[in-house]
Amino acid sequence: MFDVNEIRKDFPILSRKVNGYPLVYLDNAATSQKPQQVIDCIVDYYSNYNANIHRGVHTLSQEATDKYEAARNTIKEHFNASKTSEIIYTSGTTHSINLVASGFTSLLKKGDEIIVSALEHHSNIVPWQMLCERTGAVLKVIPMNQEGVLDMDAYVDLLNDKTQLVFVNHISNALGIINPIKFIIDQAHRVGAVVLIDGAQACSHVKVDFQALDCDFYVTSAHKMCGPTGVGILYGKEAWLEKLPPYQGGGEMIAEVSFEKTTYAGLPHKFEAGTPNICGGIAFGAAIDYLNTIGFSEIAKQEEMLLEYANKKLLEIEGLKIYGTGSEKTSVISFNIEGLHPYDIGTIIDKLGIAVRTGHHCAQPVMDFFNIPGTVRASFAFYNTIEEVDALVSAVKKAKMMLS
Ligand code: PMP
Repeated sequence: MFDVNEIRKDFPILSRKVNGYPLVYLDNAATSQKPQQVIDCIVDYYSNYNANIHRGVHTLSQEATDKYEAARNTIKEHFNASKTSEIIYTSGTTHSINLVASGFTSLLKKGDEIIVSALEHHSNIVPWQMLCERTGAVLKVIPMNQEGVLDMDAYVDLLNDKTQLVFVNHISNALGIINPIKFIIDQAHRVGAVVLIDGAQACSHVKVDFQALDCDFYVTSAHKMCGPTGVGILYGKEAWLEKLPPYQGGGEMIAEVSFEKTTYAGLPHKFEAGTPNICGGIAFGAAIDYLNTIGFSEIAKQEEMLLEYANKKLLEIEGLKIYGTGSEKTSVISFNIEGLHPYDIGTIIDKLGIAVRTGHHCAQPVMDFFNIPGTVRASFAFYNTIEEVDALVSAVKKAKMMLS
């Protein structure tokens, strides 16, 4: 039975106060809070078996290696990859995208086309622009409509035999819109293009199945999924990971080194140069176990309920406009109040203990599309409550009164 008050007890930070008020944490799209189970896992690693991995004969090194690789297997099972070697540990979504963008430098030629969407985070725009500069490839953009929904007819029209790569986020961080990624992947494959899905915002809300999606690459970060910062994954189909050259050179990623020639390790180690975030990888596994104990259908139910209630209550405030009104949405509400700056609203409600994000959310093209400097973004997780939505609404009303 899902009991939000019981679940909240797992998150020590949720009982703290901010500016004398109980913390209302509604910035989950930026990073999630961490349950005691994940915190304990981190403490256990540093207290009991901290050691470098894959290279020691001693007991601690073997224990750390076993747990790190067991976590890789947890990640593989959770996302239904076909092999653990298709799961590359990285420092997060941004690192994963840059790894792929760098790898394609030698695989693209002048005039090839890359498609991204109008809804992307900067980390899914800038690395591709840099790739275009290096190769002479051309960047094309899938447009969106006023509801923040991508135009799939325009997308299909953009696809042609020059299209080499398609990069789209699964869920938009700025608006919470869920993109039709299965359609996007299938259409890209029709013209032989490779697809990378940025799942940074999706994996805390839905259970993603890499094989069912048939995506070529999928990237995400642990810190959005109740895990620690500084760790994430690149999933790639084996054939593509084999084709890409290594990203960084160093220890761990080699088979043999001499001054004449170096040969590289097989997957996944070819992409894992240097000492990794060992504790982070292990704690990522613990975070996935924790989310699965709660259950993704229960998570979705709670978040849908919060989204619906918050939408209704916020829209009762005169002059409040929500951006991203498409029907396929996750629990993110981006809004502005006529005549007020989002930063001012965010600053005042922080004084009342409420944490939201304000600004362009690393998605300036989305803000430019709506011709606004930014929004206030409230993003809800399964551990948020109806009472917290009420606190948000009443704080926003107060801010509006003070600023008008
Ligand atoms: N893509 C999207 C859609 C995101 O929301 C984020 C994080 N805000 C990123 C990419 C980048 O993730 P990270 O900062 O963990 O590398």
